[in-house]
Amino acid sequence: MSQHPQAGPARLVVLAGPTAVGKGAVSTYIRENHPEIWLSVSATTRRPRPGEIDGYHYHFLNDAEFDAMLREDAFLEHAVVHGRARYGTPRSPVQEQLAQGTPVLLEIDLEGARQVRETMPEALFVFLAPPSWDELLRRLVGRGTESAEERERRLATAEVEMACQDEFDVVVVNDEVRRAARQLVSLMKTLP
Ligand code: 5GP
Repeated sequence: MSQHPQAGPARLVVLAGPTAVGKGAVSTYIRENHPEIWLSVSATTRRPRPGEIDGYHYHFLNDAEFDAMLREDAFLEHAVVHGRARYGTPRSPVQEQLAQGTPVLLEIDLEGARQVRETMPEALFVFLAPPSWDELLRRLVGRGTESAEERERRLATAEVEMACQDEFDVVVVNDEVRRAARQLVSLMKTLP
C-alpha cells in the first residue's frame, strides 16, 4: 500500500468497505468524539431504522425528492446500494466544509468511492477491512436487522467489495472500533 501522494489543500477522506464491516460504527465514533472532523450526511431513499434521525443520520428522501436532486446535479456521487435504495452525497455541504479547511469524511459504498475518485482524485481513499472473512460473516448475521433474503444480497455485495481493496490508498482493519477510528483520524490529520 503506497503513501498517499496528496498535494492540494482539500482534506477529503472517503471510507468504504464491505457491508457490515462496521463503517457505521467507526464513523459514529468519529462523529461523537472528533467534532473537528465533519461527517457528510447522505441522502437516501431507504426508510429510517428505529432511532435514526432525519438530517442527522441521513436525509431521508422519497424517490421524487431524490430525482429532483439528481436533476439539479446536487450529488457529488450517488449509487443504488444492495440493489435497493438509492444513496447520494450532497455536493455543496462537502465543498463548503472543505473551503473552510474542515476535514471531511464520506462513508459510502464502493461504487460511490469510484465516482469520487473520478471527480476528486486528490481525496484519500480508505478501505475498512474485517480482521477475517469469518468475522465479516459473523457481523453480517449478527446485526439481525435484515431478512434472510436481504442478508444474502448483502453477502453477495460484500464478496465483490472485498475483492476491491487494492483500489484504495490505505487499508484500515476494523478489529476494534475505537482503535480503527483513531487510526483513521490520525491518517486524516497527516494530510495537508
Ligand atoms: P445503511 O442503509 O446500512 O445505512 O447503508 C448501506 C450502505 O450504503 C453502506 O455501505 C453505506 O456505506 C452506503 N452509503 C451510505 N451513504 C451513502 C452515500 O451517500 N453514497 C453511497 N454511494 N453509498 C452510501
